[in-house]
Amino acid sequence: MPDCQACGACCSAYIVDLYQGEGHDIPHPLRNLLVDQEKQEMRRDANFRCAALVGKVGESVKCSIYGCRPTVCRDFPREESSCHRARRIAGVKPPNGIPDLVEVSVYDLGLATGS
Ligand code: SF4
Ligand code: SF4
Repeated sequence: MPDCQACGACCSAYIVDLYQGEGHDIPHPLRNLLVDQEKQEMRRDANFRCAALVGKVGESVKCSIYGCRPTVCRDFPREESSCHRARRIAGVKPPNGIPDLVEVSVYDLGLATGS
């Protein structure tokens, strides 16, 4: 399994949506800095990283609201395709030098049949 604390790719590759009512357990005034209540998502910094992410992606990171992080973060599927894709987007090397999976759809291969 990859070490997420040496990665952070998913926290810097995707928009983090919040379920209705989520984010209220983040202490004020931190909540306003980190959560976009109007869009129901975590705010991004200038580098598109989640505003709650601390550290350097691909080296050493931590979530500053780990105990009350959103559901999508708790449920994020480590070592599945979204994880591999996040590392490719963020330019983080795969663990153990084993190449990340490359997703190819029928559309990429020209195999899709129109209707
Ligand atoms: S992209 Fe995968 S390995 Fe990296 S922090 Fe997220 S879940 Fe962990
Ligand atoms: S809330 Fe924490 S775990 Fe979720 S994307 Fe932001 S830094 Fe990562």
